[in-house]
Amino acid sequence: KPRRMVVIGGTAAGLSAASKAKRLDQDLQITVFEKSGYISYGACGLPYFVGGLIEKPEQLVSFSVEEMQDKRGISVHIHHEVLSIDRENKQVTVQNMKTGAMLVAPYEILVIATGAVPVRPAIEGIDIPRVVFLRTVEDGILLKGYVHDTQRAVLVGGGFIGLELAEELTQAGVHVTLFEAMDRLLPFLPQSFSRKVQETLDAHGVTVHLNAKIARILSSNGVAGAVESVDGTQVKADLVVLSVGVHPATALARAAGLELGIKDSIVVDDHMQTSDSAIWACGDCAQMRHIITGKPVHIPLGTTANKMGKVAGSVIGGEKDSFAGVLGSMVTKVFDLYIAATGLSLNEAKTAGYDAMESVITKNDKASYYPGGEPNTLNIVFDGTSGRLLGAQGYGSESIAGRINVLVACITAGMTVSQVNDLDLVYAPPVAPVYDPILIAASQAL
Ligand code: FAD
Repeated sequence: KPRRMVVIGGTAAGLSAASKAKRLDQDLQITVFEKSGYISYGACGLPYFVGGLIEKPEQLVSFSVEEMQDKRGISVHIHHEVLSIDRENKQVTVQNMKTGAMLVAPYEILVIATGAVPVRPAIEGIDIPRVVFLRTVEDGILLKGYVHDTQRAVLVGGGFIGLELAEELTQAGVHVTLFEAMDRLLPFLPQSFSRKVQETLDAHGVTVHLNAKIARILSSNGVAGAVESVDGTQVKADLVVLSVGVHPATALARAAGLELGIKDSIVVDDHMQTSDSAIWACGDCAQMRHIITGKPVHIPLGTTANKMGKVAGSVIGGEKDSFAGVLGSMVTKVFDLYIAATGLSLNEAKTAGYDAMESVITKNDKASYYPGGEPNTLNIVFDGTSGRLLGAQGYGSESIAGRINVLVACITAGMTVSQVNDLDLVYAPPVAPVYDPILIAASQAL
């Protein structure tokens, strides 16, 4: 009798798990339930869809429902929400959101890939029209629909989604004011790096308020009209976008009695198995392990979701596979500034008990005499006692991403700054200086 596999959630993690499992075991009968109207979409592209760089939402979609069915043999139901998990009888209850009809889907294997949902701060005015969040394609369509008649937007939250939106809305002709509750943007960066990000925003006409917690959103003619911060500052806005973090979408898992961990994410082992051996969880709804500290973390990223899904699918399909953990590697672009980071920040390294030190350098990304070089500023965080590399953050030209990626490899391999200093990196004047910024940062740390 073929095994029945039910997947809850049809994007990065869920479809990675389904596709990999089916490839390894053609006999699996796989059904995916997705409550939104889209599957297989890259939420990461949403800011660029909102800004107009990407025209149609379909361009964000890798596979259609039909392709999943016809090419991969996986049955996908959009507008179907799983309402509950019955672990004892191994079945889920699902509602067709278009017709209201209920159905029961039995499983031998269940994969929970419900992702995360935006944090909705408990403030007055959060439900007013033109106050939006950006997570799903539908959110993107709603937000994009507002852009053409928006003059002033307030973005709440200075994380990478808020910053990408600041760029995109500015380029679409909207005046943007950004509120950040903390004392800096992208708080995992050194203070001076955050300042550089802020200067870049200033230079492009974005107004930034730091230490500015939102108290309420005021309406005007029934739609968003202004935002007021705790200190009483009021800024007019005909559009408000909140990007103040996400939390794992684990209400179903909680109700089913599965073990939950950090931020209520689902506890999984290295094979993505939950506390119930018939249930796997992957992606933003699940807990991860930090490669350096070995401690559980919840760092919700698309790269991780895809990989966790693939591991779940491999194991379900009968292969030995495990997830190596995360460093929280990220990259983003704010106007002409690229920012990338991996591993521990100085503060995180200190909190984790390391004799944490840092080495900051600025160096051109090409030979000094070669035209067109741009500065790369790089900070490496290391343990002063053992010399072990623990983290890196950088900003500058696009090439900063490649440099951080090199350091990802170094951290994963457990290298010391002395070993990084000895790396035989590439050099040619149009591509890099003879001593790459990585080598300069490492040698300064010795
Ligand atoms: P999700 O993408 O959240 O998908 C979960 C799906 O499950 C959803 O479609 C949801 O509708 C469905 N679902 C939930 N509950 C149910 C239910 N009960 N029944 C049926 N269906 C259900 N990451 C990067 O690495 N790089 C980036 O540049 C980047 N940029 C981003 C930009 C934006 C604007 C956003 C919002 C995110 C970005 N991310 C980025 C994060 C990345 O998109 C997520 O980490 C990734 O989408 C997580 O995938 P997932 O499959 O775990 O969850």
